[in-house]
Order: sequence, then structure tokens, then C-alpha cells
Amino acid sequence: MQDSIKKILIVGGGTAGWMTAAALSKVMDTRFCSVQLVESDDIGTVGVGEATIPIIQMFNKLLDLDEDEFVKKTQGTFKLGIEFVNWKSIGQKYIHAFGDVGKDMDAVQFYHYWLKMAQLGQAEELGRYSIAGVASAHGKFMRPFDAGNSPLSNIAYAFHFDAGLYARFVREFSECREVQRTEGKVAATDLDSNTGFIQSVLLESGERIEADFFIDCSGFRGLLIDGAMKVGYDNWSQWLPCDRAWAVPCESVGDPIPYTRSTAHAAGWQWRIPLQHRVGNGHVFSSKFMSEDEARSILLNNLDGKPLAEPRLLKFVTGKRKKMWEKNCLAIGLSSGFMEPLESTSIHLVQSSIGRLMSFFPNKSFDQVDIDEFNRQADFEVEKIRDFLILHYHATERNDSEFWNYCRTMSIPPELTQKIEQFKKNGRIFRNNNEMFSDLSWLEVMYGQGIRPRSYNPLVDRMSHEEITQRLESVRRVIDKSVDYMPTHAQYIVENCKAEKID
Ligand SMILES: Cc1cc2nc3c(=O)[nH]c(=O)nc-3n(C[C@H](O)[C@H](O)[C@H](O)COP(=O)(O)OP(=O)(O)OC[C@H]3O[C@@H](n4cnc5c(N)ncnc54)[C@H](O)[C@@H]3O)c2cc1C
Repeated sequence: MQDSIKKILIVGGGTAGWMTAAALSKVMDTRFCSVQLVESDDIGTVGVGEATIPIIQMFNKLLDLDEDEFVKKTQGTFKLGIEFVNWKSIGQKYIHAFGDVGKDMDAVQFYHYWLKMAQLGQAEELGRYSIAGVASAHGKFMRPFDAGNSPLSNIAYAFHFDAGLYARFVREFSECREVQRTEGKVAATDLDSNTGFIQSVLLESGERIEADFFIDCSGFRGLLIDGAMKVGYDNWSQWLPCDRAWAVPCESVGDPIPYTRSTAHAAGWQWRIPLQHRVGNGHVFSSKFMSEDEARSILLNNLDGKPLAEPRLLKFVTGKRKKMWEKNCLAIGLSSGFMEPLESTSIHLVQSSIGRLMSFFPNKSFDQVDIDEFNRQADFEVEKIRDFLILHYHATERNDSEFWNYCRTMSIPPELTQKIEQFKKNGRIFRNNNEMFSDLSWLEVMYGQGIRPRSYNPLVDRMSHEEITQRLESVRRVIDKSVDYMPTHAQYIVENCKAEKID
């Protein structure tokens, strides 16, 4: 009989804490292993984190959520990608759309045919060959359905939601499944003097909570993983120099668009996330290159509607913990690191840490070989995402500010250099093992940021010029027809998942 874990304590009740609690309560029998979560209303949560990527659908499936109900309760909208404005140069924009681009032909990726024609000036922009790209441009949305070979069978989407309502939603889910919530502030942590394992945490109230396994979801503080286990932090701000964000909601002035917008400014960028009841906005910037006051006024001057609250300042250091799992303590969420919200990857990283935890679920022996492999996989995942984010900053033509001059000329990690060089040479992009972003994501961003390959896969030349032209045209026609069939995003929400009005 294995020496099973009988008690798990989650410290922190933000999105990470409650998502972890929800997943554990769904997959585990809480009669044999109880799950307790301690959080402090006084401290509160980071309260941002409103855009996601399509993989979140898997998390919803794990919880067996009714997706319409989930969208209603979180004032959610649908997301087909991210529009990047002013990133390559001022006035230019492109979309990083989810899902397929075109249709591969004779075992060669569609984009090599497209690259050939684009080099000849005979192709439209990349987003015109993606259903998510064209639907975004027209404000259309629907979920995929079985429509045979039509792109309507294959619409990749994610969600925007109100962070506070989402945390409440997953909390209700967890509490219905026997997760015990304790309100209180953790003041100290007791370690076993022989093993260095955490034995218990002490609340300010004097209550002591023991457990076998501690999950640190305490946010940037990293109360357990850093405060108690002192694992250290890899600081990545030389590559991802933004370290502050002002966040403010504002009134909506029109129907919600089905994508996030990211607009580059002089020392960072601004997000715009449309929800049903408001728009979420934030200005992510580098305090080395811009003062907090200036960043705040840029944000307030670039809102669609009236601000609904005072802007809130959040401070962070981009990077990751040197170890996400140490002894009987695992960090999930912001406690494990943060790479800034540019591609909405943080909630995904919470989800993937939970998935990895299920694969490496320990018993009381906490086998080091498992912990090492968990940490190796987690490092791989975040390092690949980090490189993808650096790409956005580095591959720019902007020279209008100190910030962009720094980003454009900074040295970058060697694997990213190699990826860019390979693309420049012949348009080839390879997904590295299980890295998060696909070759199509890399393509959309590399091309969108202005990197132009000198060539393409020579197998493309087997097909005549006329035939490639016809096929590209046919892809475009089919996509346009499919998008004509789709309702507007606003209409789709009204018909399927309209939230109740909040006064
Ligand atoms: C500016 C910004 C924008 C972002 N945008 C996105 C986005 O668009 N998409 C995305 O995926 N992610 C985004 N993120 C990240 C996302 O917000 C987080 O990944 C997510 O909210 C999870 O946060 P968390 O639960 O780890 O931390 P928090 O929300 O900070 O929660 C920490 C919890 O720990 C508790 N706690 C702390 N100390 C103690 C203590 N001593 N005792 C008891 N309890 C304690 C707090 O009360 C709280 O409940 C963004 C982050 C930032 C900073």
C-alpha cells in the first residue's frame, strides 16, 4: 500500500488557487484526501487576467462545465486571437489568429505556398487565409460544428472574462465539492528541521494548519516557495523589460469585438479586452523608460469609454522560480513566475501546472526523480513561451523611443536567434517538442513583426504558378463564405450566453 497524501493545503485564493482546488476536487476523492484552501480577503487577489487561449476549453471539459453558463456568469465574450497594433512600426497592424491558416497541400504546409506568392506580391495578407482572422475583422463568431470539410468545423476560440467573477465561479465549483475554505492570513511556516519539508502554516489568528502537500498560490509573494523554501528566481527583465502595469476598466461604447487588442506605446503596450458589461484595459510598461505618471495618463487618454474605477498599479519582475516544485511545496500561478500578459499565457500556465501535477501526483515519499522531471518540463514550457514573447519586442522596426531601441538591439536567447534565422533563410518553422505555440503562431508573429524569409520550401515549385493562385483564391473564397454564414459576435452572445445585467 502506498503512503498516500491525505491532506493538501492550497495557500491563496486567486485564479490559480481556485482553479487548482476545482481540478483537485473534481479528480480526487476528497474522502481520502482532503483539500483545504486558505486565503486572505485583506490581501485580495491581483484581480486581472481576463484573456485566455483556446486550450482553456480542455480545463472546462475536465470540470464538465456548461460553457454557456460559464460565459454568462463571468460576463464573458469569445476570443479568436490578438490584434497587434503599432508593434512592427507605427500605423501597422496584424492579427495573431487562433487555429489553422489555409490548407496544407501535398504534405507541404500552406504557408510555404503563401510565402512564394507573397514574395511575388500576389497574395493577400496572411490573416485573410484564416477563418479566425477573417471572422475577427468582421466581428463575427460562432462555435465550430460538424460541417464536413468546411472551416466552420474547425474554429479555434478562447474566452475573455471578468477575473473576479471567474475566481468566484471556480470557487463555487470547488466549495460544492468539499474544498474547505479558511479565511486568514498566513504569518509563518514551520519546516521539519531534518528534512526541510513544510509541516504546517500558522495563521495570524493563531490557528495552525498541517498538511502533507502544500500548493503555493499566494501570487507574486511566493509565500511558501520563496519565503519558506527559498528556491530563488531567474530574472528575465533583460529580455522582457516591462515591470509595471496600470489597469482600469471602462465603459463599452459598442458591441464587443471577438479578439483582444494589443497596442504598442512608447515604452510598452496597452491591452483592450472586451467583456459583456465593460472593457478591461491596461498599460504594461517599463519603469526604466517611462514614469508611472506618464504611463497612467497614456492609458487614460486611450480608452474607448469612461473609466469605471481609478487605475490600479501592479508591479512585477518578469522571470520564473528556479524550481517550481521543491520538497512538498509546489508553486502554481504567479508564485511560480510571471512573463507579462502579452499572449495571455498565465492562466494557461496555471492549467498546465495542474495537468502536470496530475501526471506527477506524489505520495508521501515525494520522489526526487519525479520532482526533477516536473521542474524540467515546467522550465521547458515557460522558456519557449518566454522566447515567443521576446520575439514581439525584438523583431520591430520601431526606433522612435529609447525603449524600442533597447528592445530592437538587445541580445536574445540563442534558440530564438536560431528560430528567426531559420525562418529568414527558407521560411521553415519547427515546433520544438511540446512547446505551447505552434508553427502557425510563430509564423503569424514573425511575419507580422516584419521578418521576411528569403525563400520557401522548394517542393512548392512542383505546383504551377496558376494552380497555386487558384488554390489560394479558393481558400479565401471558402473562408469568406463561411464567415458570411456566421452571426455577429454580439448576436451569438445574445442568443447563447447573455449575462445578466450588473447594476
Ligand atoms: C497586469 C497583469 C495582466 C494580466 N493579464 C492576464 C491575461 O490577460 N491572461 C492571463 O492568462 N493572465 C493574465 N495575468 C496573470 C493572471 O492575472 C494570473 O496568472 C492569475 O490571476 C493567477 O493569479 P494568482 O492566483 O497566482 O495570484 P493572486 O490573484 O495574486 O492571488 C494570490 C492569493 O494569495 C492570497 N495570499 C497572499 N498572501 C497571503 C497570506 N499571507 N495569507 C493568506 N493568503 C494570502 C491572496 O489573498 C490571494 O487570494 C495578468 C497579470 C498581470 C499582473
